[in-house]
Amino acid sequence: MKEDQDGMSLSQSLPLSQDSFRELWETVVTPSISTIPTVNESWRADGPMDMLLMNEQALTDGFDENLFELPPEMPANDGITPPAFTVPVTTDYPGEYGFQLRFQKSGTAKSVTSTYSELLNKLYCQISKTSPIEVLVGKELPLGSVVRATAVYKKSEHAAEVVRRCPHHQNGDSTEHRSHLIRVEGSLRAQYFEDQHTQRHSVTVPYEPPQLGSEITTILLSYMCNSSCMGGMNRRPILTILTLETPEGLVLGRRCFEVRVCACPGRDRKTEEENSAKNQNGAKQTKKRKSTPAPAPAPDSTSVKRSKPTSSADEEDKDVFVLHVRGRERYEMLKKINDGLELLDKESKTKTKVSVKHEFAVPSSGKRLLQRGERSDSD
Ligand SMILES: [Zn+2]
Repeated sequence: MKEDQDGMSLSQSLPLSQDSFRELWETVVTPSISTIPTVNESWRADGPMDMLLMNEQALTDGFDENLFELPPEMPANDGITPPAFTVPVTTDYPGEYGFQLRFQKSGTAKSVTSTYSELLNKLYCQISKTSPIEVLVGKELPLGSVVRATAVYKKSEHAAEVVRRCPHHQNGDSTEHRSHLIRVEGSLRAQYFEDQHTQRHSVTVPYEPPQLGSEITTILLSYMCNSSCMGGMNRRPILTILTLETPEGLVLGRRCFEVRVCACPGRDRKTEEENSAKNQNGAKQTKKRKSTPAPAPAPDSTSVKRSKPTSSADEEDKDVFVLHVRGRERYEMLKKINDGLELLDKESKTKTKVSVKHEFAVPSSGKRLLQRGERSDSD
């Protein structure tokens, strides 16, 4: 009944011709475009984005040609300061707000899914597991400031390449930002960017001041590929750059750390920290290294070397063997062991044969005896 009445009143006020319907359509539709809520809201909440340089003024005025021109009060470069550089800066810069990062102390237990090495300034984490990162600032930030995370390759020969997920992991994902390596978890206000000039990926999250009684703000990052992913990082080390930015994109501070995404973060952190300590202390630590390397290749290398010495106890083994090692990391590890052994050999050459015999007599544990034997024989 009511519909009929409305229909009546409409038909009474408007003649039923196509021309007047078009008029009606235009008066109704044009203003409704300018009030689509999602566009305006995302703008207010998240600040400028370089590929959508619109402002509210343009929207409320309706659709016109000027919509896609830069608003004069917003210069193009200021809105996108960090991604505008071809190669992002990776030096720490606390800035006037004293921007700092802190990582939770997770240790190197086997079960740990994310752990940070102070010694190496390196985060070790499992794929798609959350790494909490604590953000500290010394004073109140401008309203609407954001934290931006960007990944770059550490080595200069790869620095120009954009870090993105491998095709395999992208395929199994239906999210819009599936090609992004770094994700911010736990916030619906995270925004994913691809710079239009460099195509670099980044993700921002609004900075939230610390909660009452706390001095830190925690952001949750996760890495969506392994460092070893073929067609992605492909074993190339990466850095994560965290920048603190004003809503206009002006950088207030910057912090960088290396990241390795792997199956056993605890083990890898331990190994790399030990390797680093060893590099600093010289060859003295080769004994320890001997027991830690990846289990598979180590026995091979030793068994090859072990087969020689028995035949020629006093003669020096001058044969050179080639060992094929899978993976650069393992190779580096074994190389270090070998370098250490070489060094020991050089040292022992300065001694007489008597001292070699002496070495066999001294050690109390069987394991040690074996190692010393190997060392003096493997040239
Ligand atoms: Zn992958």
